[in-house]
Amino acid sequence: MTDRSPFETDMLTLTRYVMERGRQAKGTGELTQLLNSMLTAIKAISSAVRKAGLANLYGIAGSVNVTGDEVKKLDVLSNSLVINMLQSSYSTCVLVSEENKEAIITAKDKRGKYVVCFDPLDGSSNIDCLASIGTIFAIYRKTSEEEPSEKDALQPGRNIVAAGYALYGSATLVALSTGQGVDLFMLDPDSGPPYGARYVGSMVADVHRTLVYGGIFLYPANQKNPKGKLRLLYECNPVAFIIEQAGGLATTGTQPVLDVKPEAIHQRVPLILGSPDDVQEYLTCVQRNQAGK
Ligand code: AMP
Ligand code: MN
Ligand code: MN
Repeated sequence: MTDRSPFETDMLTLTRYVMERGRQAKGTGELTQLLNSMLTAIKAISSAVRKAGLANLYGIAGSVNVTGDEVKKLDVLSNSLVINMLQSSYSTCVLVSEENKEAIITAKDKRGKYVVCFDPLDGSSNIDCLASIGTIFAIYRKTSEEEPSEKDALQPGRNIVAAGYALYGSATLVALSTGQGVDLFMLDPDSGPPYGARYVGSMVADVHRTLVYGGIFLYPANQKNPKGKLRLLYECNPVAFIIEQAGGLATTGTQPVLDVKPEAIHQRVPLILGSPDDVQEYLTCVQRNQAGK
């Protein structure tokens, strides 16, 4: 079990950097979660942009957006990627997108305190001539106590908590500021980052990959599966044992998997396992999040 993968990249550095800043800020982890979700969307958009020609994403989607531009397929895709990532980060309440006429209000059960304004794909009239395009975002705190509405987004730029952009040029670059200067990061698409999400969908294959390359495997509880999906007795426990024996950690998020007292044979538990530092980092985030609620 390696603590750190040999393929560490700048995107990984960026994720770690955001988490480190979050730790220093001693916040609830909400902003960190938001930023990392945005970065995940950016990674996905970057890969869609790279594949646009092959995936037949060039060309118009057949509609016109609020400001009258032709809406490109990549615009539509990028917009839904950002919206989905932000809404499932549990850190936003109001989203304003270039592509949506009305402000998007996050469902009650997924709300957090941040307002995000973004252009999912700026410069998209350049798509077909392969010029650089980008994603731009600004994050604000919700300041009023009222029901979330587009009014929350009507704040001066001076109030920005964090802002950034991604540029999908010859490489993908991310510029990010959380109010203490600007940092630039390059995303190298060819370096096979282990922190790029990998999900074979067969637990044993995913766990094996984690065992060999390090990193983290997560099947946490979610709304659809409030107790996680994987079965304690014949999925989680055996792999948890192997991973612990290899020097890693396997947790349900509240206790080591191996310490869970089973109550039923098909019982499910959340499963998070992998390199000790990554699992520890996950636990720290979860604890901070819970402490803040
Ligand atoms: P939070 O409790 O996570 O919403 O964070 C509270 C405040 O701490 C944020 O509004 C930021 O001002 C600061 N902060 C939290 N996380 C980060 C981060 N990852 N990078 C920079 N500043 C942060
Ligand atoms: Mn746009
Ligand atoms: Mn634009």
